[in-house]
Amino acid sequence: MINKEKIQAGVKLLLEGIGEDIHREGLIETPERIARMYEEIFGGMYEDAATHLSKRFHVKNNEMVIEKDIVFYSTCEHHMLPFYGKAHIGYIPDGEVVGLSKLARIVDVFAKRLQLQEQLTAQIADALMDNLAPKGVIVMVEAEHMCMSMRGIKKPGSQTVTIVTRGEFAKDEALQNKFFQMVK
Ligand code: ZN
Repeated sequence: MINKEKIQAGVKLLLEGIGEDIHREGLIETPERIARMYEEIFGGMYEDAATHLSKRFHVKNNEMVIEKDIVFYSTCEHHMLPFYGKAHIGYIPDGEVVGLSKLARIVDVFAKRLQLQEQLTAQIADALMDNLAPKGVIVMVEAEHMCMSMRGIKKPGSQTVTIVTRGEFAKDEALQNKFFQMVK
């Protein structure tokens, strides 16, 4: 599990590195507060997406299932700053589906880690392929990165879009377009 003592010691060093007085009133509890927060926002490291996908329901027709506008908050591993936005998931069942809330759950499992948006998108798609074995999966993630907005090139509001396709979605452009129309 997360080592809160190490985080607290690290935050104290960061504050001293900035040139702060770690004993002033506003900062006295900051290391402990950040350690508690990290336990929450990096809690996905200690969760397995498979546990959320173990309960399945049988279906007769294999029509595309879409869950869109799943809001997520993640943390970029290059700057340890937030990136956040929406994930859209589509899949074509092969006789089985999972509860819709589980799709949002697995987004959280992977978002609550140090991440890259490209990797987050692929991990969601692969977790579905590996655990549900549908005929195909498509995942689209749209996000704003604070490391682009508040520093560096400073372009607030710009959205990074990543798309990952697996199975039937990888080779069928018409199917992809159907998904894009539905999530727009
Ligand atoms: Zn970054």
